[in-house]
Amino acid sequence: NNQIILAERPNGMPDQNTFRFVQQDVGELKEDQVLVRTLFVSVDPYMRGRMQDAESYVEPYKVNEVIEGGAIGEVIDSRSGRFQQGDVVIGMFGWQEYYVATDKELRKIDPSLAPISTHLGILGMTGLTAYFGLLDIGQPKEGETVVISGAAGAVGSVVGQIAKIKGAHVVGIAGSNEKVQYLKEDLKFDEAINYRSTDNMEAALKATCPNGIDVYFDNVGGEISDAVFTQLNRYARIPVCGAISAYNLEKLDLGPRVQTMLIKKSALMQGFTVGNYADRFNEGAVQLGQWLQEGKLKYRETIKEGFENIPNAFLDLFKGNNVGKLLVKVADH
Ligand code: NDP
Repeated sequence: NNQIILAERPNGMPDQNTFRFVQQDVGELKEDQVLVRTLFVSVDPYMRGRMQDAESYVEPYKVNEVIEGGAIGEVIDSRSGRFQQGDVVIGMFGWQEYYVATDKELRKIDPSLAPISTHLGILGMTGLTAYFGLLDIGQPKEGETVVISGAAGAVGSVVGQIAKIKGAHVVGIAGSNEKVQYLKEDLKFDEAINYRSTDNMEAALKATCPNGIDVYFDNVGGEISDAVFTQLNRYARIPVCGAISAYNLEKLDLGPRVQTMLIKKSALMQGFTVGNYADRFNEGAVQLGQWLQEGKLKYRETIKEGFENIPNAFLDLFKGNNVGKLLVKVADH
């Protein structure tokens, strides 16, 4: 059984030394346990935070232990009444090819509803993050302007489409012309800005948000957010979902930032984690599934192949090498 463990805690950007491949036998199944073969693993920006030995909303990874994270697998042996061979399951078993799970750790997914990978993306954690962060905190109203950073990623691409469903003027910020084109042409965002090729973000935002900004869904933080804050409207709402531009900084970068703009505009800025909404996941998943079936939501996935490519795929998140949810396919279903 191949596994990937945290070899050492990274300083700054993680690299190949951060991870180590190891082999371990899968143990015997006990009562209420199942043997799962991994099909897809999810790589997510929040995992970077768990590599640090710092207090957060999830436990830090331990050095020399398998990297835990969302994954989908197939039951290949079962001593549980709840699962049988062939069931497709989702859990947090992470970066390993096989896993002996206690049945409570897994949830069955229905492969006939949608491609199974969507349960790690648009119908799973990242889709729910978009849904609750935007609707519960952002509360976009018809005709308002919604700006999203990290707009072509797993969370951002869903946020913008939901904002369109709600009748907003939607502007995405992303890191390449290909992404800008994807947002405008495929996802029907009203406008999109390539922050890498724009030397004046403030002017670009002014031009694309002529009525100012009512909701800013922030995935990245840093200078991009500084520019957005200059264009806020009165009573703007800012769901703070992530700050990926800061995750690999060795020294926290402090700047003029935002406080005075928040005061001037009576804006509301609220951080959140998707886990806050655990008791409403079902509502979110049903609604996302319905929009998907009605063709109101589209999605793209960036799928890398092969267990050995998981660490590189994870590092790709910080290079912007993904459109939509980034996943690694480990085995065929
Ligand atoms: P994405 O699919 O958006 O992938 C990450 C993207 O971030 C990259 O494609 C890249 O796109 C962009 N990026 C990377 N580095 C930088 C940088 N320095 N500055 C600006 N953009 C950068 O990932 P997710 O959708 O999974 O996550 C998006 C954000 O949401 C993250 O901050 C994550 O931590 C957060 N999150 C929060 C959750 C919560 O519960 N609060 C749950 C899930 C995610 P580009 O080419 O545009 O630069």
